[in-house]
Amino acid sequence: MENSFFNIDNKLLALDNEIINEIANQFKQIDEIAQYNQQKVLSAFINNRVSEAHLGISTGYGYDDIGRETLEKLWANCMGAEDSLIRHNFVSGTHTLTVALFGILRPNDKMLCLTGRPYDTLIGVLGIDKHVDGSLTDFGVKYNQVELTENGLPDEEAIKKALKKDTYKVAYIQRSRGYSLRPSLSIKDIEKLCKIVKESSPDTIIMVDNCYGEFVEKQEPTQVGADLIAGSLIKNPGGGIAPTGGYIAGKKELIEKCAFRLTAPGVGKEVGATLGHNRELYMGVFAAPHTVGEALKTAVYCAALFSRLGYTVTPKANEDRADIIQSVILGNRENLIAFCKGMQSGAPVDSFVSPEPWAMPGYDDEVIMAAGSFTLGASIELSADAPLREPFAAWMQGGLNFHSGQMGVLLAAQSMLEKGLLTI
Ligand SMILES: *Cc1c(COP(=O)(O)O)cnc(C)c1O
Repeated sequence: MENSFFNIDNKLLALDNEIINEIANQFKQIDEIAQYNQQKVLSAFINNRVSEAHLGISTGYGYDDIGRETLEKLWANCMGAEDSLIRHNFVSGTHTLTVALFGILRPNDKMLCLTGRPYDTLIGVLGIDKHVDGSLTDFGVKYNQVELTENGLPDEEAIKKALKKDTYKVAYIQRSRGYSLRPSLSIKDIEKLCKIVKESSPDTIIMVDNCYGEFVEKQEPTQVGADLIAGSLIKNPGGGIAPTGGYIAGKKELIEKCAFRLTAPGVGKEVGATLGHNRELYMGVFAAPHTVGEALKTAVYCAALFSRLGYTVTPKANEDRADIIQSVILGNRENLIAFCKGMQSGAPVDSFVSPEPWAMPGYDDEVIMAAGSFTLGASIELSADAPLREPFAAWMQGGLNFHSGQMGVLLAAQSMLEKGLLTI
């Protein structure tokens, strides 16, 4: 790399050169998947005859918004699902998952999570640690989880046992590791889990939290047995363009239940003004396969660089990936803070601010976050988060394009180097 605009140390630049060659094969694989998924998305645009009229604005009830209706068909096609909801008025991934869970569960129904303790923000939705007003538990839904094995993998035998012992309305799978150090689930892993559920309990609805997983592989969970998936549009499927929103995709009758919960029973998906967001959502979906590829390249590069610098990274640069998250185990507080400050200094927005650890509500430990994004909180844009506790791991994800992601990662290393924390 030419060092024209940033003062990156020559030793780091030499490493950069070596690494780029080392990871060429991974990049080739990422491009191959992005190419496949881009064709999938492009053909969905063509088959649904998307035209300028779809990019228009609706207000009020939003009846007959052909842009919204066509986008939901197109997105279902992309996910290999019967139907979908994809809307700006899902306020977050957590909200989207909440609508889906409340859509399909009824009082006294039982839900079984197959992948251990769910992502932090779901704990309140489920109401499992303490009483939360309006949580699923508050509405009389019973929750159980099967713990992961020591290696962080789904415990197939325990899952079979649990499904035999009780009748579950919903089996819930979290594809991404979230902010834990377990491996993320590949589509093959999810397919296996779906088979186990269908064999043990054919009527159980399989729902997958698909956050961070969209377009990482050629297939989606809905193509290997999942009945319902949900995710956030400020992660993978928004392509870095959608300004907010979420999606649910899956079986038609389940999407109807979710739509009844999102709007009103009996009304469902026929309403919902798009207020001018159709264009951004179409563009976001169109960009998503490529953007996900760029984020994956950034993750692979980060893994390669920091493992060469002597840190444990997971996944490793040459491991198959199931989501866009990269964790780097930095070992101590100083490293973690320097890493995040360096990454922030390479952000296109707010590069000049310096992230500091703070006691974020809802977390036991202090947290530090590096994010300088066009969309507030968008983690398809380069960002890193880290709780200040053992083993002092940073979770890095995103990167709208590899070249900027590469700079962000190099600046994280440079920041550590300048503080005397690296030996090269
Ligand atoms: C991001 C994420 C969510 C939803 O989080 P929001 O911040 O509400 O969008 C849920 N589950 C997993 C695994 C996630 O990564």
